[in-house]
Amino acid sequence: MTFENLKLIEPLLRALTTEGYTTPTPIQAQAIPVLLERKDLLGCAQTGTGKTAAFALPILQNLHEDELYVKGPEGIKALVLTPTRELAIQIGDSFAAYGRHLRLTHTVIFGGVSQHTQTKALRDGVDILIATPGRLLDLMNQKFVKLDNLKMFVLDEADRMLDMGFIHDVKKVIARIPAKRQTLFFSATMPPEIAKLANTILTNPVKVEV
Ligand code: AMP
Repeated sequence: MTFENLKLIEPLLRALTTEGYTTPTPIQAQAIPVLLERKDLLGCAQTGTGKTAAFALPILQNLHEDELYVKGPEGIKALVLTPTRELAIQIGDSFAAYGRHLRLTHTVIFGGVSQHTQTKALRDGVDILIATPGRLLDLMNQKFVKLDNLKMFVLDEADRMLDMGFIHDVKKVIARIPAKRQTLFFSATMPPEIAKLANTILTNPVKVEV
């Protein structure tokens, strides 16, 4: 199995070569084709499995291909919600690495620091936003973030969101994003509350377990 077999476009393949990736991990091999078909995904996978590339590569490719045909409306097209600042930064670095040959932009927002740099980046406009839930809601309430044109939504580490007490904020964000979207839901474990949330926010998801 190679990344070419997964039908990734050439600018992404080149970036993966630079990263030194030769073979897709199991979650990548299973999730990428599903996500390129624009289907919803329920992924049971932990950090360390290559989960980030499994969602970042299809997000980059889908958004890039959308822009090829018609220049769509401005604004955030993909949102990744993740529980911690460290994960948010890592995910941002992954988008930077894999998207190096594409024109898509991204930024990372998280709490515990001044919002100034973050709001400046948002004002310049980004295609992909990586966020922790509390800071995202805060900046949505202040109208620095508009999600009206969102096409893809990733909920990363859903079970940790619950453990860390963020699930209420997560639900508030979900209530304010377009219903017509592609949703990717990742969780290492599936306690009942998380299974219920997955059930309410996913439409005919393909399940991938690694
Ligand atoms: P993640 O589970 O997304 O946190 O990824 C774990 C680590 O594996 C990261 O350091 C990635 O850079 C690396 N990685 C992801 N996919 C691959 C791959 N297909 N080949 C080699 N390394 C990879």
